[in-house]
Amino acid sequence: MTELHTNVRYVKGIGEARAKALAKVGITDLQSLIAYFPRAWEDRTKLYTIDALPIGEPACVKAMVAAPPVASHVRQGLDLLKVKVVDGTAALFLTFFNQSYLKNALVVGRSYVFYGKAEGSLLRKQMVNPLFEPEEAGQITGRIMPVYPLTAGLTQSVMHKAVRQGLDACTELLPEVLPDRLRMKYELCHINFAYENIHFPTSFEALGVARRRLTFEELFLLCVGLQLLRRRRTGETGPVCRPVELESFYRALPFSLTGAQKRAVDEAVGDMCAGRPMNRLCQGDVGSGKTMVAAACVYFAVKNGLQAAMMAPTELLAQQHFRSLAPLLEKQGVRCALLTGSLSAKEKKEVQGRLAAGETDFVVGTQALLSRDVAFASLGLVVADEQHRFGVAQRAALSAKAGEHPHILVMSATPIPRTLALMIYGDLDLSVIDELPPGRQQVDTFAVPDSYHPRVFRFIRKHVAAGRQAYIICPMVGGPDTLPNEKKAATDYAAKLQKEVFPDLRVACVHGKLRSGEKEKVMASFAAGETDILVSTTVVEVGVDVPNATVMVVENAERFGLSQLHQLRGRVGRGKHKSYCILFSDASNEETRARLKVMTETNDGFRLAQEDLNLRGPGDFFGQRQHGLPQLKVADLQCDLALMQLARQAAEELLASDEDLSAPEHRAIAEKLRAMFDSAGGGMN
Ligand code: ADP
Ligand code: MG
Repeated sequence: MTELHTNVRYVKGIGEARAKALAKVGITDLQSLIAYFPRAWEDRTKLYTIDALPIGEPACVKAMVAAPPVASHVRQGLDLLKVKVVDGTAALFLTFFNQSYLKNALVVGRSYVFYGKAEGSLLRKQMVNPLFEPEEAGQITGRIMPVYPLTAGLTQSVMHKAVRQGLDACTELLPEVLPDRLRMKYELCHINFAYENIHFPTSFEALGVARRRLTFEELFLLCVGLQLLRRRRTGETGPVCRPVELESFYRALPFSLTGAQKRAVDEAVGDMCAGRPMNRLCQGDVGSGKTMVAAACVYFAVKNGLQAAMMAPTELLAQQHFRSLAPLLEKQGVRCALLTGSLSAKEKKEVQGRLAAGETDFVVGTQALLSRDVAFASLGLVVADEQHRFGVAQRAALSAKAGEHPHILVMSATPIPRTLALMIYGDLDLSVIDELPPGRQQVDTFAVPDSYHPRVFRFIRKHVAAGRQAYIICPMVGGPDTLPNEKKAATDYAAKLQKEVFPDLRVACVHGKLRSGEKEKVMASFAAGETDILVSTTVVEVGVDVPNATVMVVENAERFGLSQLHQLRGRVGRGKHKSYCILFSDASNEETRARLKVMTETNDGFRLAQEDLNLRGPGDFFGQRQHGLPQLKVADLQCDLALMQLARQAAEELLASDEDLSAPEHRAIAEKLRAMFDSAGGGMN
């Protein structure tokens, strides 16, 4: 019997090898097969005559085979098949590379529809490797065809056939999650129509209708889930704080906070005094000074007799925060400690003992802080830095751990438009730091081909001679299917640079596989100016703060997304010196060029985030990787802001009418939510 969880191996044409390839993109059963949505659609509805066939664009043409196909063997590995086809208007010359087996598929005197890109001149048109089928078939021409994201071992045609079969097998099986009432009110089509037409739309209108429905469903479920999380929280009580003078803390700083920083602190302080647990996201571009906002909140909590903890995504960052915050806070009577994996067992025990006894007020660490062995005497505030590595899951784990519910402040450098942020962090309140500390200069950014290496090396030399420092993010070898060996890449490259290019300069190397004690040493020496050039993997991507560094060089920049490049660039331009970012890439594909160009044009994280959204789609924003949220598949947020509002509204209506989703017609929603949030590790139960 077929069911949604039937293995894809049972689909005709899917053998072991293809099943493996499919698994790589997350397709294992019928359900995941039909939920694998196209990334684009090709309009093959219009049929051209040969004389009207546009040059350089894919199009369909109906024509008759005029003469027997001619096969020739050019050399090993290169066979050609040439075919002349005609219609009433002109002739078209087809060439197939290494597809000699097609010789018998094309019969003289028969008509076929060919789909491909015509080249040549108006007088002599040709087409290379067109797809084709007999004129009456209507399977792959004369209609709108889906274009799927592929991986090695998959082709569009394999996907087309597999999805077609999957859809046919599932028509009776798809559960309709959205109640009729809701579908009527928001004018949403039935689930069967939606799945059929997202893959094989009968028209572009039908595609729009299908997409709207699926997007709505996705956003709606997300909203319901997040609102449930939020409701649970507002029913709880958090440690109540009383107002504390922050002036003495501010006065001890080497600079005065910007207005935006102060506002963020005030908002957090307001939360902590309100009696329910704070759950606030503080968002600010790279370098906007989020750490000081966190420090002020820590000070505030500690002066209220509470303990505070700060979690960083990497040891490197934890150590950096400790180094910069501890001296400042200790002066104010806050007892600080660092707890990371690299401490010896004995040291760990000591730190843990003092935390449990309430003899430490503020601890900085990694996720190790979440571990079972760590107990607090009176944990009142948790700061999670660089949230995009922390998810809903960790947030939930923290609340659970502390027993009573600590205040949570999440810091994020991923600047996303406010509406999006509200959506993504639906269970959080939001502060935005929309102002940079005074005196910051633009980081001048250049995208250059690999042949510029000598020039760039001279450029680095000049800056080092002037007393500055540089980062070089090293290249990675290996394709998308092989796990890059970052350790080897970084150490080899550093050794090569030291030996061949900068023998007289101090080159050091840091990568994720270094023992953490080692990592700290390398970073500390770079921070102290004892290293001129730091060759690194992306471990420096997040948060690292060395204001004397003024040059950021990124090798193979095509491998990075915009947000990541922006993060990397954010490592320079942090002090008073003019800074530069150089992006090496020989990649010629359009998307990459566009991405690098945007980098050279703007330093504005919000604009970059928007561009990233346009170039790569919202998957990465919504994706588990960044936010620990369920992966969204269809929601195209840019054009769907209006729909997003509707989905939120519908979610609120739903919960107003049935707050625990106990009505029978809402059971499917409850189940789907459980699946969604469980796979994100969020724990809805
Ligand atoms: P991010 O928001 O990226 O975490 P940081 O908190 O690391 O930024 O701050 C970046 C740099 O700016 C640090 O060197 C910090 O000391 C400095 N800084 C923070 N706030 C101010 C301010 N109000 N005026 C001047 N410098 C500041
Ligand atoms: Mg930071």
